[in-house]
Amino acid sequence: MDEQLARYERLYIGGEWVEPQDGSMVDSIDPSVGRPWAKVAFGGAADIDRAVAAASEAFHGPWRRMSVYDRAALLRELAVTYQAHAGQLATLESRDNGRPIRETRPDIAAHAQWFHYFAGLADKIDGRSIPIDPTMHVFTTRVPVGVVGAIVPWNAPLLLTAWKLGPALAAGCTIVIKPSESTSVTALELARVVEKLGFPPGVINVVPGFGKTAGARLVTHPSVNKISFTGEVGTSQEIMKAAAGTLKRLTFENGGKSPHIIFKDADLGQALNAATHAAFMATGQSCALGSRLLVESSIYEQVVSELARRAQRVRIGAPLHEQTQMGPHATAQQRDKTLKYIDLGIGEGARLVTGGQIPSRSQLSGEGLEDGFYIQPTVFADVNQSMVIAQEEIFGPVCSVIPFKTEEEAIAIANDTRYGLTAALWTQNVGRAHRVAAQLEAGTVWVNTYRYIRWNIPYGGFKMSGLGRENGPEALDAYLETRSTIMNLTGAYPDAYPS
Ligand code: NAD
Repeated sequence: MDEQLARYERLYIGGEWVEPQDGSMVDSIDPSVGRPWAKVAFGGAADIDRAVAAASEAFHGPWRRMSVYDRAALLRELAVTYQAHAGQLATLESRDNGRPIRETRPDIAAHAQWFHYFAGLADKIDGRSIPIDPTMHVFTTRVPVGVVGAIVPWNAPLLLTAWKLGPALAAGCTIVIKPSESTSVTALELARVVEKLGFPPGVINVVPGFGKTAGARLVTHPSVNKISFTGEVGTSQEIMKAAAGTLKRLTFENGGKSPHIIFKDADLGQALNAATHAAFMATGQSCALGSRLLVESSIYEQVVSELARRAQRVRIGAPLHEQTQMGPHATAQQRDKTLKYIDLGIGEGARLVTGGQIPSRSQLSGEGLEDGFYIQPTVFADVNQSMVIAQEEIFGPVCSVIPFKTEEEAIAIANDTRYGLTAALWTQNVGRAHRVAAQLEAGTVWVNTYRYIRWNIPYGGFKMSGLGRENGPEALDAYLETRSTIMNLTGAYPDAYPS
């Protein structure tokens, strides 16, 4: 059985493929069938140490000496080569984390834009000249923070790696990427793309491994200057504590419980297109999921029944089938977590309108899927803010529909969460659009659209949804230090203690 598995036996460290020193071979599960499909080498603390040493050597050596335009040229080459491999990477990502190919193919083809965009920013990282006194020349320079540890989750492995890799390299940092233990394959495939290019050894390193060992070592390693983390808020809190010893620079992209508000003056057909997609895309495993649908009372029942009708027609099945619209959960644990929340919602008195079950064999398109981690798109109505399903991030295809009467009430419900990543509203009243958007506590607010996320638009969370921003020029800030240089043009320094 083992010999049929794809094998990824080495880590990518210092420009070479090396066997783990203190790691092991771990199965990667194909979530569509619930069985291993690949064996992946995981590194331990000693392997992270090796990768950090390689990244540190590259940072202090050839990478630092390279001109910004050569650095940018390498990033552009990465963009072009990555794009040329996008189809193959999409197939592997769908295999490893279960997202349907009709989602991963366009998504991964777009990742190259992140590398192009940050290549363009590489030669625009300039400082200021600060006028103060004719005898002093004062200026700032922005310098790379150093070695970056990139810790990535399993829901969109390549996208979230690209979000870190682009700005880190543009800023002049070197990087050690630790993908999620559930989805390591595509990070290693990314290393195969990288090795074709002319990056100095050690600039980009990939070490799969467990969070508690490899991830934790990155966080405490004294030569790692910054951690860029995407994952659960609880893990961010652990990392924040562990990083205190070395006072690392930290950015976090955590979860969300995004409010998606539909006012009665919305274009309802369009709003429902967005609401359905926002609630069920990526099997609900998106930080930007529109998991709380807030609907004005007079159109509430209409929206609930139309959303349920649309949920029922989502085609669930094998991720690599072109027709599949929703794949399985990425892991069995995540499927079980979603089922637990569905039970909880029923127990709390929410009205289960549709879904809530593991789909029957006849509801799945594809063969041999009995042991995959599938779940039906689920709609709960009559949800209120005191319910756990309205407060906690489920990370599954579960939409809680909540009624409201006034604009003020909609805003209050929207903001009644510890999260603040994204929010959206649908209205044709331009005054209301501005009024409401300005009061939503979220890093991104969409008006009459949903999940419009691009390389040049800052993305990140208010409140417990994160710290710092990815994408846009703001993303560079996290990878840079500012140095103020003060030069005395006279060379004179008065004696403070004259006799
Ligand atoms: P997770 O926090 O369990 O794991 C994320 C990564 O952290 C993994 O690589 C894991 O190995 C590592 N890790 C775990 N414990 C660690 C430790 N003690 N020290 C260092 N590293 C450690 O998250 P997940 O379950 O993989 O991902 C799902 C979460 O990610 C959801 O909450 C989701 O909302 C969030 N997410 C946020 C965004 C965003 O941009 N805001 C995007 C995607 C996902």
